[in-house]
Amino acid sequence: MPVLSHQQLQSLLEQHLVRVNTPQNSARLVAANLVDASLKGHDSHGVTLLPRYISAILAGDLNPLAKLRVVRDAGPLLAFNGQHGFGQVLGKEMMEAGIERALQFGVAVVSLADSHHLGRIGAWAEQVADAGLVSIHFANVAAPSAVLPFDGRHPRLGTNPFCVGVPVTGRRPVILDFATSSIAGNKARIAFNEGRAIPEGCAVDAEGNPTTDPRWLMQDPRGALLAFGRHKGAGLSLICSLLGAALSGGETESHQIAPRPGIINNMLSIIFDPARLGAGENYAQEVLAQLDWMHHGQEGRDVMLPGEPEARAYAQRLENGIYVDEVSWQQFEALAQ
Ligand code: NAD
Repeated sequence: MPVLSHQQLQSLLEQHLVRVNTPQNSARLVAANLVDASLKGHDSHGVTLLPRYISAILAGDLNPLAKLRVVRDAGPLLAFNGQHGFGQVLGKEMMEAGIERALQFGVAVVSLADSHHLGRIGAWAEQVADAGLVSIHFANVAAPSAVLPFDGRHPRLGTNPFCVGVPVTGRRPVILDFATSSIAGNKARIAFNEGRAIPEGCAVDAEGNPTTDPRWLMQDPRGALLAFGRHKGAGLSLICSLLGAALSGGETESHQIAPRPGIINNMLSIIFDPARLGAGENYAQEVLAQLDWMHHGQEGRDVMLPGEPEARAYAQRLENGIYVDEVSWQQFEALAQ
């Protein structure tokens, strides 16, 4: 059971990425983003994605040299195309541009089409919150549909992530960041690798029967994931597709995209400066009051705020290292050869 420090993984990932023509600076950013996701407890979106990224480069789905192309620049409205470049590089630049415009205009609406995998969307909300700004992100996954519409029989949606980041004066930001499927697709991959069942009520097999076996999400014939929260999650997933993809010039799931090594994301982000909305001191106090209220009188129960599980995992894994599942580790070793 390999357990590696974050420094070891950072350097290992960088080396592999540089070997497949990734510029050193991009390799550093991609590796840091994946290591950070692993540190924050999201193995699904962490270092174990490296073999898939390398396959995507070799298949021509991911261009390690691609840059952010400006499609429209209209003051607080900015549209980019990512030309299948690294989401870790494009996402960071997209947020930098959005932060700059939100500081200038009070608000920015920024879209990105045709990015390779944007990873853990919470990373982008954290970047924005560090600048003192609120952000809302709608993303779709331009891949074969994996999620059923509510009461549907055939998948028509991606695992489309939704994320909100709220900066908090003097404390860590609130980062709500999740797949709109009941579990993220990559969580099924980790469960499959580790020979574990997935929780009940998350998936169906190819016949539409409930299953906890992740093989139905990993091998043909495919089953499907359910959206979280019944019609509410399925509705939010659709909105992620409409705003994240249709509005950004990217592909919605309707394209019946064939399976490919690359993972293409499209995303719309709304970024604004809470201070410019006029709530001022009252806003800052109310946020703190409500966060404290969440913990108030809970009779010793361990109530966490969104972002807290990630912060706890980070502290623990920074100290004790990051476990890489055996299947992923074998894939790493194969890459080395
Ligand atoms: P999840 O089910 O682990 O939920 C995560 C969110 O819920 C976080 O905001 C977390 O702080 C909060 N949370 C978790 N447990 C909590 C608790 N006990 N109390 C309070 N809050 C709690 O997330 P997920 O749906 O498995 O998604 C994992 C990651 O996958 C996310 O970072 C998401 O952005 C990413 N993702 C990316 C893509 C993509 O294509 N790029 C697609 C799907 C998901």
